[in-house]
Amino acid sequence: MIPQTAISSVPFIDLRHELGFEEAVLARWTKALKDRAFIGGIASQEQERLICQYCETEHFIGCANGTDAMQLALRAVGVGTGDLVVLPDFTFWATYEAVINVGAVPVLVDVDEADLQMDFALFEQACALYKPKAALIVHLYGWSSRRLLDFRALCAKLEIPLVEDGAQALGSEHLGEKIFAGALIASTSFYPAKVLGAAGDAGGIFTRDKELAERCLKLGNHGRSSHYGHDLVGWNSRLDELQAHYLVESLARLDSRIQSRKDSLFKYEQFFAGQDASLLPLSFLAEPTGTIGNGYLQVSLCKTNYAELAPKLKAAGIGTGNVYPSSISAQPGIASGTIIHAPERKANHLAQRILNLPLFPYMLAEELAYVFRVLATLPKS
Ligand SMILES: *Cc1c(COP(=O)(O)O)cnc(C)c1O
Repeated sequence: MIPQTAISSVPFIDLRHELGFEEAVLARWTKALKDRAFIGGIASQEQERLICQYCETEHFIGCANGTDAMQLALRAVGVGTGDLVVLPDFTFWATYEAVINVGAVPVLVDVDEADLQMDFALFEQACALYKPKAALIVHLYGWSSRRLLDFRALCAKLEIPLVEDGAQALGSEHLGEKIFAGALIASTSFYPAKVLGAAGDAGGIFTRDKELAERCLKLGNHGRSSHYGHDLVGWNSRLDELQAHYLVESLARLDSRIQSRKDSLFKYEQFFAGQDASLLPLSFLAEPTGTIGNGYLQVSLCKTNYAELAPKLKAAGIGTGNVYPSSISAQPGIASGTIIHAPERKANHLAQRILNLPLFPYMLAEELAYVFRVLATLPKS
């Protein structure tokens, strides 16, 4: 419970859930333990059905985590050793790892400063220049690119399968449609801090293509055609029953969690709109037009940089994030052979200016008010 005392700190993230949620999960887990039902049981089937309904997609394949989900999707669309895959230079490292781990060569494309997603014009150039086997787009911050439909249309025209990393975008909409509904194939993560989190690691793939769905299922289950019959070399990446039970209960409450995130985000937007923008050292970044986000992250842009502003907020008890502090191409772990299509290296500069303020389900009005009070007292710049 949250004490009813005056608030003097707000964490960056706090995974709050509803009264009765834990009891509902425990009842399911107790039964699963008694039944020794751990892999491939009724909860997995139930979760599959419910999440397809929620995301308006035809097929869902559960797997071990969001990184595996991308690897399964890339393998399913035919990416293998030495193939080129175009992806954004500004994303979580796992997107890049997935490309490397399937043996492909990454082509990193710079960021569009307007929406912080992959730059469409540079993407188009990279496709013409490198003729990639596949492309990977990322829906960062629970948004999508303002040009998502252009990405999809170009890939369809060039016959380049487009894999969509939707680890942060479950529940988001683009132009009146749930975001995964229009994807050839999309992956997501149920890492606990994501919008739909599991009680540990889990992930999944969405597709409208039956063949792709079957390939993903097979690849993530040892290439099985029967219990000891194997059509191809895959690996073991399954979503287990305990996670599925947890996800079913979470799905039933997801609309309420997302609405609560969006309400808080709206209050942030109102706060920033009510301030003299020239006096605040940071500005609110709105969702790109066409997108209805899921409230995954608040995104603001510092006039100077994160490193200067974050300690001041921390001193006042406010947790912040910097998602992400570096481009992929500037990370020390970059693999040799990686192609970089980022003539101006915009992601490098932009990354240092991003500051994420606290945003999570069921934030209290008092907590938001405290954040706003502190923001209003920040030194003007
Ligand atoms: C969380 C995340 C992943 C990885 O998911 P895991 O379940 O942690 O493997 C991949 N891409 C993006 C954009 C993410 O936010």
